[in-house]
Parts: sequence; C-alpha cells; structure tokens
Amino acid sequence: MEAIPGLVAVLAPDGRVEQVNREIEDYCGHRLDQLREWGTNGIVHPDDMPNVARLFGQSIASGTPYTIEQRLRRHDGEYRWFDNHGRPRRAADGSIVAWHVLLVDVHDRKLAKDALKASEQNLQLTIDTIPALAWSARSDGTADFFNRHYLDYVGLPIEKLVDWQWTSVVHPDDQQTVLSAWKRFDAAGTGGDIEARVRRHDGTYRWFNFRTHPLRDEHGNVVKWFGVKVDIDEQKRATLLLAGERQLLELIAWGRPLHEVLAKLCSVVEAALPGSLCEIRTLDASRTVFEHVEAPSFPENYVAAIIGSRVAEKASPCDMAISRRMQVIEDNFGSPVLWTDTPARAHFLAQGLKLMWSAPVTSKDGTILGSLSICRGTSQKLLPAHQDIIDRTTQIASIAIERFWAEDQLRRRKFLLEEAERISETGSFYWDMKTNKLFWSTQMHRIYEVPDGMEPVYPNLMAKVHPDDEAWVQEKAQRAFRGENSPPNVERLLFPDGRIKYISTAFRVITHEDGRLESVGVAQDVTRQRLADDAADQLRSELAHVTRVMSLGELAASITHEVNQPLSGIITNASTCLRMLAADPPNIEGAIRTAQLSIRDGNRAAEVVKRLRNLYRKQDLNPEPFDLNEAAQEVLATCAHEMQRRRIILKSKLDAALPRIEGDRIQLQQVVLNLVLNAADAVGSVERDSRQIIVEATEAEAGNVTLTVRDNGPGIPAEDIARIFDAFYTTKPNGMGIGLSVSRSIIDRHGGKLRAATNEDGPGVTFTFSIPCIAATKGPAGGQHQA
Ligand code: ADP
Repeated sequence: MEAIPGLVAVLAPDGRVEQVNREIEDYCGHRLDQLREWGTNGIVHPDDMPNVARLFGQSIASGTPYTIEQRLRRHDGEYRWFDNHGRPRRAADGSIVAWHVLLVDVHDRKLAKDALKASEQNLQLTIDTIPALAWSARSDGTADFFNRHYLDYVGLPIEKLVDWQWTSVVHPDDQQTVLSAWKRFDAAGTGGDIEARVRRHDGTYRWFNFRTHPLRDEHGNVVKWFGVKVDIDEQKRATLLLAGERQLLELIAWGRPLHEVLAKLCSVVEAALPGSLCEIRTLDASRTVFEHVEAPSFPENYVAAIIGSRVAEKASPCDMAISRRMQVIEDNFGSPVLWTDTPARAHFLAQGLKLMWSAPVTSKDGTILGSLSICRGTSQKLLPAHQDIIDRTTQIASIAIERFWAEDQLRRRKFLLEEAERISETGSFYWDMKTNKLFWSTQMHRIYEVPDGMEPVYPNLMAKVHPDDEAWVQEKAQRAFRGENSPPNVERLLFPDGRIKYISTAFRVITHEDGRLESVGVAQDVTRQRLADDAADQLRSELAHVTRVMSLGELAASITHEVNQPLSGIITNASTCLRMLAADPPNIEGAIRTAQLSIRDGNRAAEVVKRLRNLYRKQDLNPEPFDLNEAAQEVLATCAHEMQRRRIILKSKLDAALPRIEGDRIQLQQVVLNLVLNAADAVGSVERDSRQIIVEATEAEAGNVTLTVRDNGPGIPAEDIARIFDAFYTTKPNGMGIGLSVSRSIIDRHGGKLRAATNEDGPGVTFTFSIPCIAATKGPAGGQHQA
C-alpha cells in the first residue's frame, strides 16, 4: 500500500476504514483514527456528503463496485475533487472480505471540464439569445440547426424547418432571389448577403439581411454553412420609402396621369407601413365635393360610395381633416358616437378595418386639395416614424395634385386657343426680328401649308407671297424693322398648284430697351369670305340689271315719250323745211337749219333706241334646271349682313331633298330678294323684341315647289292687299312700287302664282309662290313657254 503512488485505503466488509496509506494521511493531515470519522468530520465536502453517503451505502449493501465524484479536504483546508473508486475483495466462497479504495485526484481535469461545459452552455445561451435568426446547414445546404430566436420568430418547430423546409417562411416574391443566391454561394464556395422578407409567427413579413458563411476543412472544402438573418425592416422600409419618393417625383415630372401617381403613392405608403391600407381623395374645383378617390387596396363599392359625395365633417376622419384643415387620428372609426352612418363607413367596417389616420393635403398657398389616409384593422400607436411617413407622403400628394391642376388648366387654355384658331382660321406668330426666327401656332402652319415639324423662317415665307403683292409685303416688313406696327391688311399667297389664298395679317412690334425687336401677330385666312364677297357682288349686279330691265318694261310709257319727242320734232322740222323750200324765192338757209335740226332729233331718237337695246340685252328668259333651295340660299347669304345691321333674325327652313325646277335662276332669285327686302322693310318699321323673317321652301303639293317668305311686320290692311301687285303702288317714301308687279310677272311667266296673305296666327304677312318642278314642266301644259 505504501508503495502505491496514490491515495489508497482498505475497508472492512461493512465499510469501516481499516487501513490507509501514508499518502492519504499526508494529503488530509490526519491519522487513521481521525480518517475513520470521514462521515462526520468534514473531510468529505459537506455539499457532496449526501450523495457520497447514499452511493457508498448502496454499494456496501449490494456488494457492487462504486465510483463517486467528490471533494476531499486537504491538510491546508482546501477541497479538491477526487474520483473515489471502491472494489470488493471476495473469498473463494464469494463472500466479501474487504473493500479496496483508490482515490484519484481529478481536480484540475474536473475544473477544466466544468469550465468547458459552462462555456458550451454559455455559447448555446448566446446563440439562442442573440437578436438574430441563426442557423447552420450541412455542406449540401440542407439546414440542420436553427436557434431559439429563429424558432420563436417564425413560430414553427425545428422539424418544420430542417432541410429546405425553411424556405416556406420566405415571402413568395423573394423565394426566387433566395434560391438563386444560394446557388451562387454554393458554386463559388463563398458566403454573401441578400435581402428578403421573412414571415413572422403572426403572419406579417419583415425585411431581413441574410448573411451566409462557409466553414472549410484543412483542404479548403466546405464542410458546413452558417448564417444569420438580421432584421433590417426599418432601414429597408426607409430606403424603399426614399426610392418610392424618387420614383413618384419622376412620375410627376414626366406628367403622368394623376391617378397613376396617386396609385403609386398609395403603394409606397402601404409598403412603408405593412398591414396598412392607404387611400387618397381629391376635391373638385368647388372644394366641397370628392371628385376622385385613389384606393387600390379597397373594394370598388367603397370608392364608388365616396366619389361625388359632399365633404361632411362627421362622415369620416378624412372629411374632418379637410373641414378642419388638421390631421385627425381616429383609432375607432366604428364608434357611432363620433361618426355618422354612411355607405362608405359601412364598406370600410365590413372590410374589418377600424383605424383611420387622415391628413389634409393642401397646396403651397394653403388651398385644400384633398386628403391622405392610412387605415388598419388592428390598433397601432402613432409613432414618430409614422408621422414622418404621413408628412412626407402628403407633401408629395400636394405636389402631384397641384401640378395636375396647373397642367390641366394649361391644357384647357391651349385647347381653347387652338380651337379658336381653328374655327376662326386665324393663326398666331412670334417673330424674333434679330434672328429672323419665327414661332408659329399650329393653325399658322395650316394656313401657310408648312409641315408641322418644319421650322418657319421669314425669307422662305416671302417666297409664298403672290408676286403682285410681294413689293408691298416687303415694304411692310421693312417698316416693322423701323418699329412700325402693321394694321390688318390682306395679302395673297400663291401655291405651286396655282391656288390663291387671301390672308389678313396684322402685327405689333415690341421694341426692347436694348433695341432688340420682336413682333407678335395674327394671320387670318379670309379666302372663303373673299370668294363669297366676289360672288355676292356679281349676283347683286346681275339682280340690279334685272330690276332695271323689268322696271323699263313697266316704264315703257316714259320711254315711248322720250322717243316720241324727237320724232315729233323731226316731223315738225321736215314740214317747216318743205315749207321753206316751196316758198318763192325758196328760203335755202332756213331749210338747211331745219334739216340740221331734224338730223339732231333723229340722232337723239336713235340714241334712245340704242340705249334701250342695251338695257334689254339680258331680258330673254333663260331657262335652265336648278335647285331653288340653293338659289334661295345664295340670296339669303347676300343679304345676311344687311339683316344683321337691321337686327333682324332671318331663318330659313329649306328642304334639302327638293326636286329641281326649270326656269330663269337669276329672275327667280330677284323675286326672292324682292320679297325678303320688302319683309325687312316691313319688320324694320315696327318696334319689336324680335324681328323675324322665315324663308321656307317645300314641295307642298305634288309637282310644285313652294317658297314662302313670312314676316312679323305690321301686315297689310285688307282693303289694300289687292293693290300691292299694281305697278307704282307704294306706301314707302322712297318706294317705286314696281318690285311686286315685276315679281308677279316673273312668276306668271314661270307658270306659277305669287300670292300674299295676312298671317292668321300672328302679326305680319306671308308671300308665297309655287313653281312646277321639272317632271311637271316637261308635260304638254308646261308653262315656261308662256314667256
Ligand atoms: P316698294 O317696295 O317699292 O314699295 P313693292 O311693289 O315691292 O314696291 O311693294 C308695294 C307695297 O306693298 C309696299 O310699298 C308695301 O306697302 C306693300 N308691301 C310689300 N311687302 C310687304 C310686307 N311684307 N308687309 C307689308 N307691306 C308690304
């Protein structure tokens, strides 16, 4: 025993200490008799005593060997750890004769082991408590470990995550990103970072940074993968919000439609505040009615219930925010105490929504434009971050709406201007006289027939001016360079195909302080008026001729008188001449004088006849088939201006499908003109609110075209109505009294009838004439040959 380098003892079969070696006595600093009292004298550490007593007792009783880990007090009082091994020694019959005990000092090893265990526990604790989702995977990427935080966060047991099952908690939109990133890492054998959303136990997704790192063996082969996922939701949303703001400002700058900008704004807000819905309303010009609602995450019936409704303070937090021009934070829009029942509120609540935070959207100058609201189904405290999002997004909404209003107004003005230019055929231009560059409106391009994209330059345009007008147009330009304005005047343009356009131009020259000259002007295409005026002039002169001719017919008496006078002069002079020649001696001198007088009178008569012939040159009836409608229309056009001047409303009801008639177009136009001018004289002679003439052409009875001229003038007394067609009957101070008699004879010669009748249903008279239309006039009883 003494030779064994260790602490040894021999015990009796009942466990009493019988012998100890010197090493034990030296270690404990006790003799054998003291060592026998180990159960009570504190040699065994009191904390270990119960365990030692139990295990030792069991072994002695059962006769089985034991090993007990326990502390023994050293002579200096310090306890050290020992492994206490005890084995029974048996006799041949198997009975225990003694116990051999070996105490091995394991103190240092035990401390190291404990420290290791503690550090392992510590590590586990650390891994489980770090505020990140930690995991590890085998070399092939199949996951085998997830820390506690990971399991708690996703709310799933580890069995539901191992291998590749964990991808089920990645947002569907991000799964592709995650898998392709893994392939990249795996192929390169390097780690890396990606960002993706992970589903929390409550179903909401948050943004995480996924960091993956490989562990390699000494050959550089990947044996394991480790990784952490760090919650970056807040930063990510802030970045997304910033990126969203930038995109929104771009959309606004590009002039995208308002609804598109506001829809995008809603999605930016919803991405920044997960679990929230956003709606934006705009007001109409009166600022009292909701004109537009952008709410992409709301059902249509909600939007429909708001559009067109009036702002009513108690209808919703939005309405209140607009009415009071302040933010309204309502956590319980369901409260019937505060809010009135409206269809919109019912739809809102039916969606399971509860909370509505509304902010007014106002322009720079404080005009209210609309509202922006954030809605949720669950309660949420308004945090500074939320307020920041509300402030920033309402500002963008205000920029978008204000810009839209301004652009809308601009678009309207431009449209108006362009339409006005198109309708009036007037273009406008700006002329920088220093560079000779012109800026033209669209209509200007149309008038000068310069393609839209082509830049007009002054010299090129001069080439379009009619050669006959070139000189004075040039001079006008020269005067402009001296700072002189140009009043409206008409110049002609000549196009290569021979067309001529009449353009009335006018401009104003602006002289700047530095002497620079600019000019702003207009150009109106008056070709149509010009041609119409020319045509009207011609028509008027032809009508005048007919009047003259027909008047002469009626004035035949006075003409006869004119011819008779020289004729009786000739007869008288001839007989005087004969008398003078028959006298004795004949009065030759007197006879020559009287013969000369005869010649003079003869010439005078011939002159009268010649003039008469000239006047009658156009008298023949000139029948041709024509449309009375069109002919009447022409007459009305010629007197339209006159009617305007006299403030008379001239209405025409001309039947477009009228059959054609055959007759003298000019003479029938003369009749229409006579009737209309008479009617104008009549309505002009009374004071009335509305002076009216109605000209109507119809096929009243089969085979006849009827034209009526109805006025609301003073009418004609019954006793005079029979006389108005008489030649020289007139009631006007300057009247001739031949218009109606001439008209009646023209209509007679066309086989028709001209009648006058007092209106039965109002003041005034109606003149009517009917002319047989072509099919009828072709018959044997055709009337035009009466002429
Ligand atoms: P004038 O117009 O030169 O008088 P007309 O033969 O055309 O000659 O007309 C004869 C007269 O018939 C007129 O002076 C006028 O008294 C009468 N008259 C013609 N048309 C109308 C009318 N629409 N309403 C009232 N009186 C009319």
